[in-house]
Amino acid sequence: MSSESVQPEVDARTLRAASEHMTVIEEAQALFSVTTQSGSEYTVDLREPACTCPDFEYRSEQLGEQGCKHIRRVRIEVGQVDVDALEASLSEQANDIQQDAEELKQAADELGETVTELEDAISRLREVAER
Ligand SMILES: [Zn+2]
Repeated sequence: MSSESVQPEVDARTLRAASEHMTVIEEAQALFSVTTQSGSEYTVDLREPACTCPDFEYRSEQLGEQGCKHIRRVRIEVGQVDVDALEASLSEQANDIQQDAEELKQAADELGETVTELEDAISRLREVAER
């Protein structure tokens, strides 16, 4: 349903890395403390890269090269991410989703009309049956 996009889709972890409230403090060279919006504090080591969060510890194989959202956030903060490209991708994605939402709304309206037609047909048939 979504239109072809020029920009690659931004995955959910990168989206959360960019959108969630996190406080990033550089503790030492390439070593960062990241405090999440729920108050958890993790340490990101950009040299590995590694993070002390459960996502990184238990699912590091599934995270891919970019790592957990804390590593991704630190990379955004220190300028290792092309922020303009990321913004363009997010913007493109938002437009696609908006378009999908409009198409779904239209489909829902059409289904609603069909329901009305079916209900009309049912009451017509009942009238006929009661004769
Ligand atoms: Zn992490």
